[in-house]
Amino acid sequence: MSSFASLALKPELLSNLESLNYTEMTPIQAQSLPAILAGDDVIGEGKTGSGKTAAFGLGILQHLEVKRFRIQTLILCPTRELAEQVAAEVRKLARAIHNIKVLCICGGMPFGPQIGSLEHGAHIIVGTPGRIEEHLRKGSLVLNNVKNIVLDEADRMLDMGFQETLDTILGFAPKQRQTLLFSATFPKEIESIAKRVMRSPTRIRVESQH
Ligand code: ADP
Ligand code: MG
Repeated sequence: MSSFASLALKPELLSNLESLNYTEMTPIQAQSLPAILAGDDVIGEGKTGSGKTAAFGLGILQHLEVKRFRIQTLILCPTRELAEQVAAEVRKLARAIHNIKVLCICGGMPFGPQIGSLEHGAHIIVGTPGRIEEHLRKGSLVLNNVKNIVLDEADRMLDMGFQETLDTILGFAPKQRQTLLFSATFPKEIESIAKRVMRSPTRIRVESQH
């Protein structure tokens, strides 16, 4: 077993993990976090419940500059429910970082208020592909300062037909970035999108639940 304390995480992240009772890393966290923290592109394959959110969430939060009030991270999820769960988990992991803003931008919600929220700014956006693409095309969302992008549940996003949308979204992001892809399964389509949008990714595969 490896503990989070073995990682060079910011002290406020470590103490918050302690207060959340996250002591030991799950296998996917133990295997992917060193590469994520080193800034590598990572493909993480692990079943539901394996702790993928904290794997990418801690990597993002470690690199986030809270004083720079710019969108530094975009997390894409297949559905609004999943995006809301991820946003809640990231906020929980970020509790000890003051003034951090995590904004959820999903389909099925009125468009106008989202434009207002985006104008107010955020550090991290969690959203669903269709709506994120719409905001990018309209110019209400700009990704020029994005340092990392997460494709969460990538297999489900591809199943839902979001392949082209994902390509379009990634086309709006800086080339110089970290791309993290998480998935429960690894069909051929994932391999092909990874080839297009990632730079020599480290691939991590975890069999068991915990
Ligand atoms: P996945 O995305 O792989 O399906 P989640 O990231 O949603 O899994 O995590 C599943 C559950 O495990 C969540 O309730 C989360 O709070 C919890 N969890 C994640 N990592 C740890 C850990 N290291 N220690 C304790 N609980 C954890
Ligand atoms: Mg998940």
